[in-house]
Parts: sequence; structure tokens; C-alpha cells
Amino acid sequence: MFKQIFSAGCKFFPLAYSLYSCPDKVWLVTHLASEVAHGYRKAHALTKTPESEGAWAPFVSKEDDDKEEDNQAPPGLGPEPEHPESIHASSGKVADALSGSSEKDIPTPENSRTSGLCSSTRQEENRINEESLGKLRGIVSVGNPVTKYAGLEKIAKGGFGTVYTATNTATGGVVAVKQVSLHKQSQKELIVNELLVLRDNKHPNIVNYLDSYLVGDKLWIIMEYMDGGPLSCVIEEVQMAEGEIAAICRECLKALNSLHSKLVIHRDVKSDNILLGMDGSVKLADFGLCAQMTSEQSKLSSLVGTAHWMAPEFINKDAYGTKVDIWSLGIVVIEMLQGEPPYSEEMPLKALNLIAKRGIPKLENAEQLSAVFQDFLNCCLQFDEDTRWSAEQLLQHPFLLSAKPLCSITHLIIAARQLREDRLRDGTAFSSASNGWLSE
Ligand code: ATP
Repeated sequence: MFKQIFSAGCKFFPLAYSLYSCPDKVWLVTHLASEVAHGYRKAHALTKTPESEGAWAPFVSKEDDDKEEDNQAPPGLGPEPEHPESIHASSGKVADALSGSSEKDIPTPENSRTSGLCSSTRQEENRINEESLGKLRGIVSVGNPVTKYAGLEKIAKGGFGTVYTATNTATGGVVAVKQVSLHKQSQKELIVNELLVLRDNKHPNIVNYLDSYLVGDKLWIIMEYMDGGPLSCVIEEVQMAEGEIAAICRECLKALNSLHSKLVIHRDVKSDNILLGMDGSVKLADFGLCAQMTSEQSKLSSLVGTAHWMAPEFINKDAYGTKVDIWSLGIVVIEMLQGEPPYSEEMPLKALNLIAKRGIPKLENAEQLSAVFQDFLNCCLQFDEDTRWSAEQLLQHPFLLSAKPLCSITHLIIAARQLREDRLRDGTAFSSASNGWLSE
């Protein structure tokens, strides 16, 4: 036992030491350690870190201050679902860290945090946080939303905060309210990011930002309510047809094309972050990890995203661009086909390693797919980002001509809900109950 600990320590020490002087890199280890400790589909506290490249510096931690009762699923639903969580860390030699160490070699988040952050770093962090709070105060509306949005009901808890439905007392319309506890976020820039991107990138396929407020220590982000829940709920229950997959892809590509044309990378495209409406609408959500590039800087290097959906260039190259979102969309297609992303049985670090080494993941029963669908997937999952198609190109791909009308998405949601209800009745729902539907 001692020998194992010692050997792990020896392997880790050079990495830790080389990371010591750069807090961003220590955060990388923190993240990977956290990922390793919990694995795919394990909900856990994650730390996200300042973006080294630019103004859109990412952030920090999972909100964990909810009251005890908030953490419990309503009776009969079983525990809250475990979904893969997003990671963020600035990259150094990520590939070295990945290939040279077994998952056991990674230190605990607590270790890396205490050993790596010196007081000057903390001062810098505090300064950035103060700046971010100042920016935030300039963005939010004045006043108290409590009377404007009444009857809050919790529908989900994410890494950043808790999401509720509420009624706009003036119009009677239902909205979604994401509450983020600011004192728990040790780096507040990502919150500012998310607000700004939502506010400045209005698009029919991006979840619509309505308003925001500061209420005590909490930021309230008011958004349109997507009453169909996340795509992941549908994927968990039903087998989707090619035409339905094509419809989802087309809608997501419209959102990505709009973001990419403004040099915004989402960096966390996955089925949990694609929200559906009962009217058949499909919208991209959760902009907490997005990055704004500039014409001078069109490549980034931070390790950001959710491991199983991350593109190979995150690991294999020093820099990446907008095409990482296209790879992730390709992984969402695999989720729609197989119910899970590739390597879902593997821990995140191992999955990252496999993505970097093996390239295009093998698809079960690929021969059953139409040739045009296979070609579309191939264009999304090109290992080399230069040959991978852009959102703009993919919008012209003939596969999208097979898209079913959007009302087919409504039918899918209804079918998935029915199946889930049946399973609940049979007592087999357990942890696959989806957070988007807790309010039912
Ligand atoms: P993450 O852990 O992915 O970073 P987060 O704290 O950033 O989570 P979101 O991903 O924005 O939070 O939201 C968490 C969940 O809340 C979503 O998966 C979805 O189920 C629900 N949700 C968020 N926004 C809305 C919305 N506008 N309408 C309906 N449901 C929503």
C-alpha cells in the first residue's frame, strides 16, 4: 500500500512541481483529479479555472449550499440523476499528463489546491472576482424579482446553480430561473460570461435570456422555460429515427453557426445542454464554459468541457478553435443512436486518452445507418479539425434533407415521458430519472 502511494507520489511530483508556479495548471490537476475521483455519470463538485487566453476567463465550482431538502428528489423518483459534469482547466501539456499517469496518480483536489495556490494568486483571484462583481452589478436589472416571478419550483440542479420554474406575475407566463450563489463561486467571471453570451447572442436556437437580478448573494438569471426538458431525457428512453436525429442536428447547427460566426465557442455541447420545447423547438443552453475569441486570437488552449464529448485536439494539440463544438455534436449523434457517448464505461481521464489515441469512435451497427447519415457523422467526427466540416458546411449536408418536421420532436418527448412514467410505476426508474422532469 505504502509502495503504491509512494510510487504514485513520485510519478505525480514532477508534474505537480512544474505546475506549481502556474495556478492555471494546478487547476488542471485539480479538475482531472476530481474527474478521476468521481467518473462518468457521477455528480460531484468541480472546479473550473481562469481562462488563460482572454477575457472570457472561466470559473469555478459547483454550488453546494442548497438546503438539505433541495438535494432530495421528490418521493418516488429515487435519487437525483447523475450526469457527467463539465470540466475546465488551462492546458499545459495535457497529453503528457494524460499519457504519463494512471488515474491513481492524480492527487486529490484538496491537495493540489492547498499546495498550488500561493497568496499572490489568491489576491489576483480576489481582484478578478471584485471586477466581475462590479461588471455583474452593471448588467443586472435593478429591483427585486421576488414579486415579479412567483411560485418557484425546483426543476434541476446543475454544477453552477439551481434551476426553478416561476410565473411572471404580470403576464402569467412561465419562465426558468437559474439561481447561482455567488459567494460559493470562487471565480465569478464565468457567471458574467454566461450572462453576456446569453444577452448578446439572441437566436431562435439559443435559450432566450429574459432578465437578471442580484438578490442578496444570489444571481437570478431569468430565461425562457423549455418545457420539453433536456435532450438527454429523450435519449434515455427512446430510440430515435434518422429523421428525428437530422432535425435535432439541423437546429443545433443553426445555433452553432450563429455562435461560431461571432467567434464564440460553446465548449460544452452535450445532450444535457440541448433543451427541447413541447412546440418542437430545440435550443442550445448552458453557456457557462463558452469562450469569445477575437480576430487576433482564433485559437484557445484551456482544457474545457465534459470529458467524453471532448475533441481530440483538446488533448493532442496546443490550440483549438470552433470545430471542437462540431466534434461534440458528433458525439451527441452517437448518444442519440446508442444512448451513451463512446467510452461511457471508462473514467474521464481514460476516455480522454482513448479519444486522443483512437480518433473516430467505432459505432455499433454502423452498417444499419443510411450512407448519407454515415457520411454526415464522418464529417462531424473528422479527427483532424482542418478536414472536419464547419457548422456552415454541415447545414448544407444532404443528410439534413431527411429531417422530420419539428412536431416529431414533440411526439418523442411525449413518448419518452410515457415510457419513464411506466418505468416509475414498475419501480425500475431509479437513477435514470432525469433532472429536467423532476417537477412532473
Ligand atoms: P452544468 O452542471 O451543466 O454546468 P449548470 O448549473 O450550468 O449545469 P444548466 O446546465 O444551465 O446549469 O441547467 C441545469 C439543468 O436545468 C439543465 O440540464 C436543464 O435540465 C435545466 N434547465 C436549465 N435551463 C433551463 C430552461 N431554460 N428551461 C428548462 N430547463 C432548464
